[in-house]
Amino acid sequence: MENFHYNVGIIGATGMVGQRFVTLLASHPWFHIKALAASASSAGHTYKEALNGRWAMEGEIPSSVKDMIVLDATNDAKRIAQEVDFVFCAVNMKKDEIKALEEMYAKLECPVVSNNSAHRKTPDVPMIIPEVNSDHLRIIDAQKKRLGTKRGFIAVKSNCSLQSYVPALAPLYDLGITDVACTTYQAISGAGKTFKTFPDIVDNCIPFISGEEEKSEEEPLKIFGHIENDKIVNATTPNITAQCVRVAVSDGHLACVFVKFKNKPSKEEILKRWKEYKGEPQALDLPSAPKQFLTYFSEDNRPQTKLDRMLENGMGISLGRLRDDKIFDYKFVGLSHNTLRGAAGGAVLLAELLCKKGYIQNK
Ligand code: NAP
Repeated sequence: MENFHYNVGIIGATGMVGQRFVTLLASHPWFHIKALAASASSAGHTYKEALNGRWAMEGEIPSSVKDMIVLDATNDAKRIAQEVDFVFCAVNMKKDEIKALEEMYAKLECPVVSNNSAHRKTPDVPMIIPEVNSDHLRIIDAQKKRLGTKRGFIAVKSNCSLQSYVPALAPLYDLGITDVACTTYQAISGAGKTFKTFPDIVDNCIPFISGEEEKSEEEPLKIFGHIENDKIVNATTPNITAQCVRVAVSDGHLACVFVKFKNKPSKEEILKRWKEYKGEPQALDLPSAPKQFLTYFSEDNRPQTKLDRMLENGMGISLGRLRDDKIFDYKFVGLSHNTLRGAAGGAVLLAELLCKKGYIQNK
């Protein structure tokens, strides 16, 4: 593996996704945490003080960052942009504020790898699942032209909910998927919560997650889209309908999916395509890439959230229960880890891809 070394910043370091970044990057072979930033109320405190009991990861706060002074994401932006090669961003702010914050970093010539939804619909911002649509990174040149930057740009990852089913649809896409119906059973860490901070979820299911169904239905169309005249043009199929339910689970989003094809493939054909599906992260042997992206479980009671969410260090997608359906053609179950593959891990993999392909370079 190459001897890459990049200094990175984490914007939103005290949040649920930010903490995941910290745990993933504390021992990352290429990325070295140089700056932690959050809101003005955390700024000036050590990372441990700023967390103020909110540390929700397994294990202790890594000793390399525990005493680091947290910076103000806005007021210290110039300093952060000078000190790091790029930033990861996962903040809880208004959409317009996030857009402005991310563009500010890009215009300070600091690439932004984002977990936020604010820029997902911006036509020249690539929204990437690294195994599925890494070819969309080509749009970055057009974005830099628009922003007037030499090295600054924004790249985003998609919403966590759809990472449990879009990876399973991608290898089947050329078979002509016409309709998809799915229900997702989503973990509370997806709302930045733990059982301690979200007691209402114990023994409960809540059938509403603000904005989630729209994202689950619309974002796959950008991922399956193509580049045309400096824009990513959304695909027109499949037609997707989604219901998203918050359930009493700490981590892991499970999806029950129904799918209809123009020409129905055999079950064997689907299983073969899932087994053989690989993308650039595997071809380039990126540090966070799962060896096997899609794993099919033949047991009737798998995948299970608690048993299978950590497959391939939380970066693999678990599939199961593929069977005929009497309204659609097939139904199946998919599972992904929402703060690893679906958030921080997916963003780290995206950053590895950007570095390896030369979109992010050392200063
Ligand atoms: P969270 O736990 O609520 O954390 C929010 C972070 O944003 C904290 O670090 C907070 O800092 C910071 N912040 C709030 N206001 C700020 C401001 N004005 N300036 C700078 N920083 C500010 O949220 P989260 O669950 O980590 O989610 C963060 C983002 O990732 C959201 O956009 C979310 O939609 C997205 N996302 C989350 C998941 C998931 O599974 N959780 C998955 C995919 C995407 P303070 O501590 O100083 O307030």
